[in-house]
Amino acid sequence: MPDDTKVIALNQIGAEVRACTLCELSKSRTHAVPGEGDPDARIMLIGEGPGYHEDQQGRPFIGASGKFLEELLGLAGLKRQDVFIGNVVKCRPPGNRDPLPDEISACSGYLDRQIEAINPDVIVTLGRFSMARWFSGERISRIHGQPRKVGHRLIVPMFHPAAALHQGSIRPQIEDDFRKLPKFLAEVEADREKQAKNDDEPPATQMTMF
Ligand code: URA
Ligand code: SF4
Repeated sequence: MPDDTKVIALNQIGAEVRACTLCELSKSRTHAVPGEGDPDARIMLIGEGPGYHEDQQGRPFIGASGKFLEELLGLAGLKRQDVFIGNVVKCRPPGNRDPLPDEISACSGYLDRQIEAINPDVIVTLGRFSMARWFSGERISRIHGQPRKVGHRLIVPMFHPAAALHQGSIRPQIEDDFRKLPKFLAEVEADREKQAKNDDEPPATQMTMF
């Protein structure tokens, strides 16, 4: 059972996104796409923004790249409902153009709050706009699949599934990166256990206080 406070926070964010007019993308959208998945997910995936089908239905990654994303999750032993899937911008850029810097910054508070509510162990960035939040100035072709520790979390940059669909040479690389996800989760888990054990053992100096 997911923690109620997470569900309440995510529902609140979803309602705000659906009513949002903070940027120009609100004018051309059919439906805003807040994101969806398990509120208790240990893994959160962050794409770029809704495409045609996502805008029609108000759900993330349901077109061709969504189908491929489900295959990729399968390589990590995961199903769509095991993770949380979101985007950098919640409304479709017209004609699927790149989101503009002011649109990304207008929308970023929602993503910040989703991350805070879910508190995932691993964040997978899909494509360069999502990657840029944590890895500015880096090249995806150089750093994909290499996690960076941010606080207690691992941020793992990956190619966008649509790129792998259009460019066959990327496919084996994104597949290998998804296969590594269980190992990354286990690393965060092991760190947490180590930390909990350290917290349980009072430091020797504490004795002198009594
Ligand atoms: N591509 C994205 O980046 N996000 C979606 O939700 C769908 C396609
Ligand atoms: Fe609001 Fe984000 Fe949609 Fe812009 S893209 S209108 S900031 S929800």
